[in-house]
Amino acid sequence: MLETIQTRIAAAEAAAGRAPGSVELIAVSKVQPLERVVAVLEAGHRIFGENYVQEAQGKWPDLRERFGPLSVHMIGPLQTNKAKVAVGLFEAIHTLDRPSLAEKLARLAQERGACPRLFVQVNTGEEPQKAGVLPADADGFVAACRAMDLPVEGLMCIPPEGCDSAPHFALLAAIAARNGLQGLSMGMSGDFEAAIAVGATHVRVGSAIFGARDYSGQARG
Ligand SMILES: *Cc1c(COP(=O)(O)O)cnc(C)c1O
Repeated sequence: MLETIQTRIAAAEAAAGRAPGSVELIAVSKVQPLERVVAVLEAGHRIFGENYVQEAQGKWPDLRERFGPLSVHMIGPLQTNKAKVAVGLFEAIHTLDRPSLAEKLARLAQERGACPRLFVQVNTGEEPQKAGVLPADADGFVAACRAMDLPVEGLMCIPPEGCDSAPHFALLAAIAARNGLQGLSMGMSGDFEAAIAVGATHVRVGSAIFGARDYSGQARG
């Protein structure tokens, strides 16, 4: 439930001695039935996260018309050939994870004179199947993005499943601090309070707001 999560975020901010409202709640609406998304919009929430360009394309243009200004964040892997659509669709991209995508986004930003807010994804668990730059490569990649004039606002991570997220959040915070980055996109339904305790500025919460996702029969893309 949206209200429960907002209350828990406020409590976690207070417990960490952080200012009220310092954590932005991204309601992750991927794969959710439209009526659940509309209910959260009707409750006044305006910040959402999506994982698939095609799904977002089919959903958000209409919802923007109905509900006015929104902030939709891309939090799933972004293929280079979908970058052009993505920069027109999203206010922020959390999954900048490789030089080819950075170069593509930099070209698009030049053409458009604007760029979504960007987060560099770091593979804090060094998992082979997971996207993100390795922790050892993060400083160099952030510097390369800055050299391309990309508006890198912060870092993002998805800790390995089934283990304590806290060390991963702490590692991400340390990499951000030494690179002078303010934004920390970390924490999901199961661990957002732990993320807020170590400085998350953006938590990405899906199932705890909308209920479990049903992937059966879902077109991805
Ligand atoms: C799906 C997803 C979330 C939300 O996960 P929940 O466990 O449902 O809160 C957050 N971040 C990313 C990158 C995701 O893909």
